[in-house]
Amino acid sequence: MPDTNISYPLPTFLKSRARTRIVCTIGPATGTMTKIKRLIRSGMSVARLNLSHGHRNEHDQYVDIVRQASREMGVAIGILADLPGPKYRVGEMSEPEIKLTTGDSFSLQRTPCKGTTERANVWPQGLHKDIKKGAMILIDEGSIELKVEDINQEEIICRVTLGGSMKPNKAITAPGNTTTVDYFTDETSKALNWVASSDIDFVGLSYVRDGLDVDRVRKHLAVSGINPQLVAKIEIQQAVDNLQEILTESDAVMVARGDLGVELPFERVPAVQKRIIRMANEIGKPVITATQMMESMIDSPSPTRAEATDVYNAVRDGTDAIMLSAETSIGRHPFRAVQAMTKIAKRAERYLEYSMLADRRRHVASKGGLEVDDSIAHSAGVVAASLKAKAIIAFTESGSTAGRVASYRPITPLLALTTKFSAGAKLSLRWGVIPITVNHYDEIQAMFHAASDLALETKIAKVGDVVVTVVGLPIGIPGTTNLLRVITLPEPVRHK
Ligand code: PGA
Ligand code: MN
Repeated sequence: MPDTNISYPLPTFLKSRARTRIVCTIGPATGTMTKIKRLIRSGMSVARLNLSHGHRNEHDQYVDIVRQASREMGVAIGILADLPGPKYRVGEMSEPEIKLTTGDSFSLQRTPCKGTTERANVWPQGLHKDIKKGAMILIDEGSIELKVEDINQEEIICRVTLGGSMKPNKAITAPGNTTTVDYFTDETSKALNWVASSDIDFVGLSYVRDGLDVDRVRKHLAVSGINPQLVAKIEIQQAVDNLQEILTESDAVMVARGDLGVELPFERVPAVQKRIIRMANEIGKPVITATQMMESMIDSPSPTRAEATDVYNAVRDGTDAIMLSAETSIGRHPFRAVQAMTKIAKRAERYLEYSMLADRRRHVASKGGLEVDDSIAHSAGVVAASLKAKAIIAFTESGSTAGRVASYRPITPLLALTTKFSAGAKLSLRWGVIPITVNHYDEIQAMFHAASDLALETKIAKVGDVVVTVVGLPIGIPGTTNLLRVITLPEPVRHK
């Protein structure tokens, strides 16, 4: 008998998950304990809160529910909170909806005023410095189009080129123009204070422009004593231009196609998506493909063929995660949307070009000479595949060992054994990682026994099968992935 007495809960729903991670935005349609548990069973790995919507007490409640559900179900679920970021918006209106007519003159004002058919306030201040005469301005993702005719300190005088109805607080976009407003707007600073007082694994940085924005947010949060993973949302031209430095400074990226398709001509979005995914894969950082993936499922019980193909292609491109927004926050079929994504992702994973993705990553990682940790992480996948191992079991204190193994896209199932639940939650965006929380081990042989027991108890493997373990020695020092051991099950018990 094994000399450990740990039991390994591996809920069956975890085994039937896609290896691609699913991020679900939480909102009124899903914000209860029962519904969040159902989202988790359907395949959610990360719960997302959009801090641009809803109240802080709602978000507090969602955090508590996700944490409790996650503990009760024995699975580490990550929480991602998206900051508002430096975004211009129209101010308050004299009525809930104001109709703008094509051909009319319209003024965007620096000083606060109630919106009418002739003028509206734009906040925060600064738009007049970012644009020139002749520029196009979009309100609410292009439902209204304006052309700039004149600019002064107080106002931007425009012509309405596409009329429509204007509602308070909607986003204002000047496609292709750089925003000079400070990243820490009032809205963003408030959201950051909430993040600092809350229990969040990932922070989504909306409208980042360059590596400095990411670095400043990291330093700001470090002052509050927290270091969540930073997910840079690529959603403006400037971020596309500065992709390399943003990838270097952040922990993960998001292809934020909603805003990207307004800031850039929509026909450029597919190529930019593929480029972002490829560059993130090469540097070994997680990438989320987001927005409108299952849009029609907000109302309809099954996706359009185009949506099914979109999800499939994003997985084949190499995305780590796929995201749902309105589909799960306010949609009518949130669970069906997650289940549909799971089914499509699993299909796509059958045809994933595993060795091509591994080679691509290895090629980039080895540019400065392949380090020990990357060599071992890459080899784990190669050895496991050639021995037809049933699992790769990574012992990972900070999560970095398992994350590194995952970045080489092993075809073999990858289990991450962490002693801290938080490390498991931080791995929740990583393609293909199944995080399991275990006791602490203080000697290496106990780890091998644990790996052996885990594989057998969870029925991932049977006696005579092979598993590959990856460990960093000495135990407890993070960032050292230096041992690869093949175990033919069961690991023999020592005689005392
Ligand atoms: P959002 O970001 O949902 O916060 O706007 C994603 C996107 O723009 O696609
Ligand atoms: Mn966005």
